[in-house]
Amino acid sequence: MILVADDDPMIRFLAQQALENRSFEVELAENGGEALEKFEARTPDLMLCDVMMPIVDGFELCTLIRAMKQGEHIPIVMLTGLNDANSIEKAFSVGATDYCEKPMNWELLPYKLNYILRASTAFRDLQVSEERYSLVARGANDGLWDWDYKDDKVYLSPRWKSMLGYEEEDIGNDPLEWIGRIHRDDKSRVITELHAHKTAKTDLFESEYRIKNAENNYRWMMCRGLAVRDDDDVAYRMIGSQTDITDRKQAEEKLVFDAVHDALTGLPNRILFLDRLSHCIELSSRRENYNFAVLYLDLNRFKVINDSLGHLLGDKLLVEIGARIKQVIRKGDTLSRLGGDEFVILCEDTSDITMATNQAERIHKELLRPIDLEGQKVVVSCSIGITESSIGYKRPEDMLRDADTAMYRAKVRPSSRYEIFDSTMHEKAMSILRIESDLRQALEEGQFDVYYQPIVEISEETVSGFEALIRWNHPKLGVLIPDDFLEVAVESRLIVPIGRWVVTEACRQMQTWKEQWAEARDWTISVNLSAPELAQPDLISAINDILDKTGLDPIFLKLEITESSLIKNSSHALQTMNTLRTRGIHLSIDDFGTGHSSFSYLHQFPFDELKIDRTFISELDKRADKQQIVNAIVSLAHNLGMTVVAEGSASGAIYENLRGASCEYAQGFSIMEPKRAIQISRSIAFDVDRTDITGFNTD
Ligand code: C2E
Ligand code: CA
Ligand code: CA
Repeated sequence: MILVADDDPMIRFLAQQALENRSFEVELAENGGEALEKFEARTPDLMLCDVMMPIVDGFELCTLIRAMKQGEHIPIVMLTGLNDANSIEKAFSVGATDYCEKPMNWELLPYKLNYILRASTAFRDLQVSEERYSLVARGANDGLWDWDYKDDKVYLSPRWKSMLGYEEEDIGNDPLEWIGRIHRDDKSRVITELHAHKTAKTDLFESEYRIKNAENNYRWMMCRGLAVRDDDDVAYRMIGSQTDITDRKQAEEKLVFDAVHDALTGLPNRILFLDRLSHCIELSSRRENYNFAVLYLDLNRFKVINDSLGHLLGDKLLVEIGARIKQVIRKGDTLSRLGGDEFVILCEDTSDITMATNQAERIHKELLRPIDLEGQKVVVSCSIGITESSIGYKRPEDMLRDADTAMYRAKVRPSSRYEIFDSTMHEKAMSILRIESDLRQALEEGQFDVYYQPIVEISEETVSGFEALIRWNHPKLGVLIPDDFLEVAVESRLIVPIGRWVVTEACRQMQTWKEQWAEARDWTISVNLSAPELAQPDLISAINDILDKTGLDPIFLKLEITESSLIKNSSHALQTMNTLRTRGIHLSIDDFGTGHSSFSYLHQFPFDELKIDRTFISELDKRADKQQIVNAIVSLAHNLGMTVVAEGSASGAIYENLRGASCEYAQGFSIMEPKRAIQISRSIAFDVDRTDITGFNTD
């Protein structure tokens, strides 16, 4: 739209004719005032204005328009008299874009205006983009570049160079100075992206790449650019900026890294491991001879070490172990930490199983060297399970599971360094699952039973109480002992509800006996508590409920706890035990001597009674060293205010030895095997006067 301002109606008319013929839209104004109004109402693309006009002349009009926001960049063409050099000069000084001399060549006017319009648009675009970039550059501390395609030179601003650690004179204006420094892996992409914008396939050149700096390090840059094009839309220049985004890139890379790595050791985590494993599975399905193996590694007794060292050193230990394993495995293999003290190794391209077993041997050897943890020397052994691709896995999880199963097998065989998975292990694992579901059913259907084994007072040879021992009346397999199912019950935590049932049943039975028989008046009932039971937050309230419900006085209840369950939750256990103690409940340390017993550790816990494991008691009559150990344990226990029960006492000679060591109580098959409650009741009923132990052996 062209605004024509002239007081000469003839000129207005001719201008309108000439321009409308060339598809311009035309607005007319008779004087400067009207022109100003029209300009304000609707900004034209160009204004043609006479110098001499009434009210407001051309120069003044031009000045006023240039002062307006929307008038800043609109091309203004002044109509001057022929050779009127003064007017021409004045016109430019007030901001006119160009001038036309009267008399006008109406034929050529549209072409001239077209040219002015296009030039001004290009100029304005450039100005806008330059402004934009100088702003952005100032704000973001960018480097600027200006690539001139005509002579293929690139201007790189001082900031551009200093961002890479160069002085102004270090870098010339050959485009290779820039492109040549871009990282090999990014270069061709950047060139493609530059070309795409140059050939107008994209609206903006935008690219992220690494570029080498003066110190030969790569920095990440974000680069943006805009092409300047000629009338035929051919780019003859591209101008842009370059921002250092290394920090952001590193943060992004760290996020990606963290998502698939273990934070403590920096090793690949389960996600990454499973990903690599599934790649291998895929590869082996395509390639005939491609074999691989998975090693599943679990540290032995790590929990104990971790608890005694403290978690900080425990963490250090894990890091060191990770580093050691890494040293001995092959370069391309993946070592991953699954969590806790479990590591897995993916051995790729194994020709046969010995490659995997050799790795296992090397790891064992490497771990034999003590690890120095701030002065403390620690040796950690591990159990390794191995499984091979030849089994024909379809899913990575299955392979991991089987390696884990083999690892468990290695763990329960102290002599074995590693175990290779075979299908019988799978069956074993399946049978564990079966036991678990059977246990659930047993709990629902009341298939459990409590057996009672007397604990006798050695000096008087009288019964002082009973230990409750669980049995499972399995519908198909008959009576099962704890060895057959307890591990699964503990692992699956089903021991918690099962144990509750045992405590309830044992307390109820003992209370019944007390109500029925006078000799039962002082009897105690001992019940075993496993680690998960001890760790239950509601243990205290559950025991209270049971005592309330059965009416048993808490002083007749003894809870037997093994050392290993204390280690598994020592601080919480201590609290729980103290509370139980204040209720009047007695506490026994069970299987003493089989763990890592130390009296210094033991005295922190409020035990009333110590049960010496039967391994110390058997052969007591034959081996002098055992006698000494038992003597020592008994006297130390007495010093700590505990009474002592000897487990598994057999022959009469042993009995005498125990008496000699002033051990108070004994419990064992030779005295009586565990029996059903009904059998115990019957014995008492048949022989009401006799409270000595022989009375119970009449089945
Ligand atoms: P424990 O606490 O050491 O219990 C004593 C075990 O030794 C019992 O085995 C008992 O039958 C056996 N025993 C007693 N005298 C002799 C002997 O002279 N010679 C030999 N060789 N063995 C003898 P049982 O009943 O098979 O129980 C095994 C373990 O299962 C128990 O060891 C205890 O740790 C656990 N357990 C048993 N019942 C329960 C229960 O209700 N809850 C929990 N959490 N654990 C239980
Ligand atoms: Ca026990
Ligand atoms: Ca025991």
